[in-house]
Amino acid sequence: MLLVRVRFAPSPTGELHVGGARTALYNYLFARHNKGKFLLRIEDTDRERSKEEFVVSIKEGLKWLKIDWDEDIVYQSERLQLYKQYAYSLLEKNKAYVDYYYPEEWEEIVKKYIPEHLPIDKKKHIERSLILEPPNGYKHVKQRAKGAIRLFVEDNINISFVDKIRGKIEILSNNINDIVLLRTDETPTYNFAVVIDDYLMEITHIIRGDDHISNTPKQILIYNAFNWNIPEFAHLPMILGPDKKKLSKRHGSLSVIEYKKMGILSDALFNFLALLGWSPKDNREIISREEMIRIFKIEEVNSSPAVFDINKLLWMNSEYIKTKENREILELVKEISSDKYDERKLLTCIELLKTRTKTLRDFLEFGDYFLTEDYKFEKEAIEKINEKSLEYLKLLHDKYLKVEEWNKKNLEEILRDLSNKLGIKASEIIHPLRAIVSGKTVGPGLFEILEALGKEVVIRRLGKFIFR
Ligand code: GLU
Repeated sequence: MLLVRVRFAPSPTGELHVGGARTALYNYLFARHNKGKFLLRIEDTDRERSKEEFVVSIKEGLKWLKIDWDEDIVYQSERLQLYKQYAYSLLEKNKAYVDYYYPEEWEEIVKKYIPEHLPIDKKKHIERSLILEPPNGYKHVKQRAKGAIRLFVEDNINISFVDKIRGKIEILSNNINDIVLLRTDETPTYNFAVVIDDYLMEITHIIRGDDHISNTPKQILIYNAFNWNIPEFAHLPMILGPDKKKLSKRHGSLSVIEYKKMGILSDALFNFLALLGWSPKDNREIISREEMIRIFKIEEVNSSPAVFDINKLLWMNSEYIKTKENREILELVKEISSDKYDERKLLTCIELLKTRTKTLRDFLEFGDYFLTEDYKFEKEAIEKINEKSLEYLKLLHDKYLKVEEWNKKNLEEILRDLSNKLGIKASEIIHPLRAIVSGKTVGPGLFEILEALGKEVVIRRLGKFIFR
């Protein structure tokens, strides 16, 4: 049986974003489902735009998502010699030729000799003859040590492949110019390096974004020139924002590491990304990694664009938070928090807010009153506190001061008893009390909060307001 080998091949010219991460994820799921290998290749031949910091962040993003790669990472920048060898071998076989023109020079020639309105295939032939027999002779150009190497693209070749997602795709070679393999500076073009690497890495399936679909016929021509077997292809649909426009920051699309910082769980993002273009037959949405690996099929990926919905990610994240052990959440919150908090307090906060938070950061933001005396007061909360409510709270303060068993049942009874005696609704005390002890208008049950904060803290916070 054929051993499946796939790769994720990012160019380190930016962070790992949703699109790239989804491509990596589908490759990973496909490899693991088929008990094959998932490889990582860094396409860093563009020395100007490639940055080491992006390599670091791509690796960090993948590791955080637990999309583990097999074997050593392949860096294209370390293989320039190799691409040269393969390009020269095509020259020897007469499948390619040297183009000695510099780009500026070439522009001049084109302007002079090639009528603009000609179709590509006609242009191609004139271009080729101008290159192989320069109008001013070869004398000046021959002195140049290097020239670009271009592949002859013959006419009337029907290039066809069956994409695992989009089905059969066909194109006639007449519409493809002679392909530049090696530039004048001897660096490989994207199409050439990809083919050489995919061949040497024994890649069996190429799964990538459909922005590459127009490159595939060119790559097939390069495979053919070498007489190499052609891998299978699957081009993934684009990801759009809910307004059907190109996905951007505006839609809440961030780099993988930024999601981590905002308190998204790795499992939740993994699950969410997997559903950007694919869904299981029964349309379930919460699916573990193991199950995903078991049921994922690349053929089931949708060919129409996927829609990125940040609210769905937040919902999914809240579902994942609910299923985690408190201790585990504690560790994750600690990882993203710049302040050090008392673990016991953090655990209380987690316990009470676990079913209400969308992100790990929410624990720190909406549960700050469990963690510090410096908690934030929302404007709406402050509005709940007035002279009258402070009068009621003064009475409550005196009663709470005497409580011996500080638990939610007792605290509730005392409060309700007081409101009855005063002939007011319990909410007239509950709302301002919640506002004072938490600085918020919503949250867990008030009496649970009071019990968790403890007598000393509640009395102190109340005192600050009523005796000022
Ligand atoms: N380096 C290419 C990119 O980042 C991917 C090439 C490929 O997957 O063939 O878009």
